[in-house]
Amino acid sequence: MQIDPRDVELCLDDEFESAASSRPTSAPIVQTSLFSFPTLEELIEALGSESGRHVYTRGQNPTVEVLETKLAALERGESCKAFASGMAAISAVLFGVLEAGDHVVFLNRIYGPTLQLARQLQRFGVEHDVVVGEAGDNPSAEPRIESLEAAIRPETRLIWVESPGTMLFHVVDLAAVVEVARRHGVLTAIDNTWATPLLQKPLPLGFDLSMHTATKYLGGHSDVVAGAVVGSRDLMEQIFRRAFLLLGGILAPWDAWLILRGLRTLPARLREHEASALAVASMLSEHPAVASVHHPGLVEDLTVRGVTDQQMTGYSGVFSFELKDVTWESTCRVVNALRHFRIGVSWGGVESLVIAPKPKNRPGALPPGLIRLSVGLEGADVLADDLRGALAGLE
Ligand SMILES: *Cc1c(COP(=O)(O)O)cnc(C)c1O
Repeated sequence: MQIDPRDVELCLDDEFESAASSRPTSAPIVQTSLFSFPTLEELIEALGSESGRHVYTRGQNPTVEVLETKLAALERGESCKAFASGMAAISAVLFGVLEAGDHVVFLNRIYGPTLQLARQLQRFGVEHDVVVGEAGDNPSAEPRIESLEAAIRPETRLIWVESPGTMLFHVVDLAAVVEVARRHGVLTAIDNTWATPLLQKPLPLGFDLSMHTATKYLGGHSDVVAGAVVGSRDLMEQIFRRAFLLLGGILAPWDAWLILRGLRTLPARLREHEASALAVASMLSEHPAVASVHHPGLVEDLTVRGVTDQQMTGYSGVFSFELKDVTWESTCRVVNALRHFRIGVSWGGVESLVIAPKPKNRPGALPPGLIRLSVGLEGADVLADDLRGALAGLE
């Protein structure tokens, strides 16, 4: 794993203005709904440029602003808005950039509720297509880029990517997506939650927007729900005016502070998550009861390896594997036998988690026998032993 030393410094230090010569090491929590002004003229003037001013906490708040400044810097972007959840961030992007009649292409396996939201947008005249590889495919960037090109219509306004993707963790060639998008004059946005801004920076590669669920690794302790979007000043101003301020899914100052606290240990946590997850994934890839392991670090295809090494500087701790015995009973038996992985949704906290999707019998569904792990900080040996124990008797 390679983390830019500048990013470590950004994570550790809260930048905020302090009148005193000494300053606290963590940002103050400014728990206020509004800010009063010395004169009416100054208030009216501030209301004219609300995205950059402290007027009302539904628009901007100093604690939240410390977080937004930090996330923008980590993504090497100009501007960031923080949200009450990842879904609030996704909603604001779609609501902020799309018009009735527009079309969106979703590329790769996408977080389920994102697609559910896209289906709601059909009521407002926004259409979409989803471009994925076949379930269980080897992760492969090139064919999907061709399918992406084929899915673009004259009305396509936005390409929304998740890489590595949900559940199967396929990697998409981000530079190739940008090339296609620019040729067609289409905006690009990525759900960058898996890699965090420390391990993948889509904006310097040409992406217009990078979105995060701060609920996962950025918060890192399974105690707060939050989201963020980073992009150019102009695009973020559009999202601020057309969506952020009006949808109202804002991050509370307390919750922004919790994310700031989480960020301080993000570089250290990621190193541990990566090492443990790679060790556990390698063990599983050699286990006789396991058919395949979906971890971007274990992909052997040279083209995909090249793309991965080009655009990511390390791996987080979430991956999946497929059992050879694909019955739902066996999947449940393995999951229920685990002692150190808690059974639950979400991921990216210090505790290890496990979940398995109930198999669906329809085209493009996830493969049966699939189990997703979020490898926490309990230590690779403990977790590998736990999995060996749960898999015993299945081979
Ligand atoms: C959890 C998740 C989301 C949604 O984030 P919330 O904070 O739960 O709203 C979006 N994308 C991905 C990849 C996620 O894992």
